[in-house]
Formats: sequence, C-alpha cells, structure tokens
Amino acid sequence: MTSFYSRRKFLKKYAELFSVLLPSLALGGITPFAHGASKRVSTLSDNPFTLGVASGDPTSDAVILWTRLAHEVLRDNNFGEQAVQVDYELSESSNFQKIIRSGSIVATPELGHSVHADVRGLKPDQTYYYRWHIGGATSQTGRAKTAPLASASKQEFRLAFASCQQFEHGYFTAYEHMAEENFDLIIHLGDYIYERSWGSNLIRNHEGPEIKTLQDYRNRYNTYKSDPDIKAAHASAPWVVTWDDHEVDNNYAADIAEDDQTPEQFLSRRINAYQAWYEFMPIRLPVGRQGPDMPIFRKLRFGNLMEMYVLDTRQYRDDQACGDGRQISCREHKDPSRTALGQAQKKWLFDNLSTADATWNVFAQQIMMASLRGINEEGDQLWPMDLWDGYPGERQQILEYLNSTSTPNPIVLTGDIHSNWVADLKLDFDQRNSKIVGSEYIGTSISSGGDGQDLTEYGENLLSNNPHVKFYNANRGYVAATLTPELWRADYKVVPYITRKGAPINIRKTFVTEAGRPGVQEA
Ligand code: FE
Ligand code: CA
Repeated sequence: MTSFYSRRKFLKKYAELFSVLLPSLALGGITPFAHGASKRVSTLSDNPFTLGVASGDPTSDAVILWTRLAHEVLRDNNFGEQAVQVDYELSESSNFQKIIRSGSIVATPELGHSVHADVRGLKPDQTYYYRWHIGGATSQTGRAKTAPLASASKQEFRLAFASCQQFEHGYFTAYEHMAEENFDLIIHLGDYIYERSWGSNLIRNHEGPEIKTLQDYRNRYNTYKSDPDIKAAHASAPWVVTWDDHEVDNNYAADIAEDDQTPEQFLSRRINAYQAWYEFMPIRLPVGRQGPDMPIFRKLRFGNLMEMYVLDTRQYRDDQACGDGRQISCREHKDPSRTALGQAQKKWLFDNLSTADATWNVFAQQIMMASLRGINEEGDQLWPMDLWDGYPGERQQILEYLNSTSTPNPIVLTGDIHSNWVADLKLDFDQRNSKIVGSEYIGTSISSGGDGQDLTEYGENLLSNNPHVKFYNANRGYVAATLTPELWRADYKVVPYITRKGAPINIRKTFVTEAGRPGVQEA
C-alpha cells in the first residue's frame, strides 16, 4: 500500500467524507431526522426527481429507498446549497390507496442531494410500492420487495444479473426488457459507469475527458442515470450492487492506477469515485465504519433458498502480475500469497461459508473464476492477469475451502468480460476428471462492446482450450435465474442489437445446476 504520510493525509480526507456520510447513514426509516439547518420546501418550479427512484439491499424487514434531487432544479429555486427534507411513502398497492409508512429524510448538498432511507419494520417477502415528494412534486413509483425470513422455506425466487454498460456504445434496451419481468431482485456486478471513452461507432456521448474529481464522477452518473431504461429497471425491483474497475479506473488494483497517477493521487481519486458511487447507488453501508476504505462486501439472505455473498475484488487486490493483460506466467504470478479479496474479506467469506446452510450459496462478484487461458503460437499458456487466473493461489484456496466445508451448491456470478459463459468450477482445471465443486455463470454486458455477435473466433478458441467451459456467446443482454429447492436455472437473454432502439429479447441458451450436483448442464 501507500506510505504512512500519504495514508495519514488520506485518512484526514476520508474523515471529512465520513462525517458527511454519517448523518444520512444513521437515519432510521421511522423517525424523521431532525437536521438543524434543513429546510422544508413548499414549492419548486420543476420536478426534481429526474434521476428516478431505486431500492436495494432488502432484508426480511427492511429495504433501502433511494432518490436524488436534480441539482439544476434546486439551484434554480435557491436550494442548491441547502439541506432539504424529502418525504417518502410506502404502500402495498401501486395506487397508494393505503399508505403503510411515511417519513422524511434530509438531502444534503454534501451528498449531492441523494438520499438513502433505510426503512425498517416491514413485513418479510412483501412487495411494496414507494414514491417521494418534495415541494409539491412527486417521483415516479418504484416497486421494492423484502426478503423472506431467514428460516422460511421459499419455493421459488427470480433474479436477474447484469454488468458493464458503456453509455456511448449503445442503448440499454436489455434493461427495458428486464424491467418488464418484475424480478424479486436485480444484481449489478459492476462497470455501472465508464470513466473514459473507448471504442468506435459511438452512438451517444459522455461529456468531457477521463473523470477524476467528485464533480466529474457525479456528472457521469447523472448521464447514465438519465437513461429511461435504467430508470425503469431500478424502479421495477430492489437491486444489490457491487462495483468493478470502471467505477474508478480501468483495471485498477487497490491504490494502483491504470495510468501515471501516484498511489497518493489515486487514493484521492478513489475517494471521489467511491463517494459518487455511494451517492447514486441504493446501498446500505455499515453505520459507524471508519478508516480509508469503503467496505462494501456483505451478505444477504433470502429464506432458506439463498445466501448471497457480495464481493469486492478491486479495492484490496494485489497488482496484476507480469504486466496485466494476457501473459505467460511469471514468478510473481505463482506467489501463493497473492490476493484478489484481501485478508479481511477472505476471512469474512470463509467464516460465513463454514456455517452456510442455505440451499444456494451465491457469490455476486466481478471477475471470471474458472480458468480462461489462451495459448500462443509457441504453445505457451496465456493467463488473463486481471481475472481470477491472475490470482491462482487464492482461487485454489477458495475452491478447496468450498470442497472441504461442503458448502451447499456454490454458484459464482460474474461480469466484467462483456460475453456470456458457463463453466464448471473444478479443483484442478487441468484434469478432466478433477472434482467439480461449484458452478459459474458469467453474464454479458448491457452495452459495452456495441451490438456484439453470437460467436467470435476469439471466444471459440478459448472455449476449445478450456474444456470446463461449456458455453460462449458475445451478444448483449442479461441473465435471468430462477431458484427452487431443486434447481438453479439460468436463462441467457440476449438482444440482437443495441445501436438502434427497440431490439427484441430472446433466450439464447438455458443452463441449469441441480441441487446436490455441482456443475452446469445444458437444459
Ligand atoms: Fe466492463
Ligand atoms: Ca471490468
């Protein structure tokens, strides 16, 4: 990590951020927050709920409700630098005939007038509708759903997972379709924004060059969140989010930037990026946390059907070995102490897995876990150093731990690589007969990479070089999964194009995992 001096400076800056996060985090859903200087707004000239609504991190009795007030509207009404009160309402019906809960929360300029209401005391496994009010304006209605009680025998649960949505590369049509499915849960595996332009044939534009300041990141999220399809998907179901690299910087590792920033400069940038991410995401962060990191790894439970471990493989990882990209293995790469999770997160994960008792144990994480090695013309193995292939020692510890603890039905969810894959997780990827200890479902991008196509030579070569990998496709889309006590079923849903609006969606392939039988099978 970084030097003592820069870490101290970093801590000081972080303490400033922490002091503004704390009041909003300390809020309960029931008690209106008494903010000395906050204003009640009687009228506004325009509706400030332009970024929509969102809910997230459901438990069996609580859910986070999110919105963010448009700065332009507040500024035009002389509230741009003011803390203002926003009201929310919950109902079990979408017409709000009976309001079962209402409250107020303060939106502060320090957090860009974003709000995260942790509304508690709700019924388990219950659909709620919610909306926000300020100054006579009302937001769109969102649909949220609490988790079943931890011990409840849930018979079916439907979720979607998605990742990677480069705004310039195309429309978020997949989200339009996702929103129509009214999932129990939507999982986002990272690359929610991109910090810079890349690719050709851009169909819409980010403003400005590579983003670094808090205002830069906020502007970028504003652009992405103005998309009607992503707003519809957020309004349709609670989300569980994690981040990958592009929420800060391409392929960053802990305090190491992609380009020529020092660790000290990069940690300052990371504070900006992490704060903006928090401001725009419907996430519950632990109250009372402190220190220079933003620990977002966490666990969510959905009855006895599913336990979900949300992981962060960016913030704590060792730098990519041997020069990043696809490389021949070098000495550094073989060092068994290399980590992608960091020691604290790994201990937390292992502690939880040792007592795991839900039917399905789902890892919501970023980078492909199954080996995806290529081969060069000389016959050398090429290891993708940014993926779990770059951290083979720690991957082996995880796979062996799943085996030795007999973790029930591990399912790894992955994004990052803008293509669909399905793979068996084996104790030894080089041995055909090696024991399968888990299943991995890798979802394609929402838009990154443009229209995409069914197959590419690149993908087909990797498929033939990695026999534990069973499926490949490079269209855009998302994965819809249905869980029952007997079966995990994953429908790979793809759209044929995204550089024009209105693409239909269809199921390209379905893979399943049977409870008690690790590994993937074509349905
Ligand atoms: Fe990506
Ligand atoms: Ca990525």
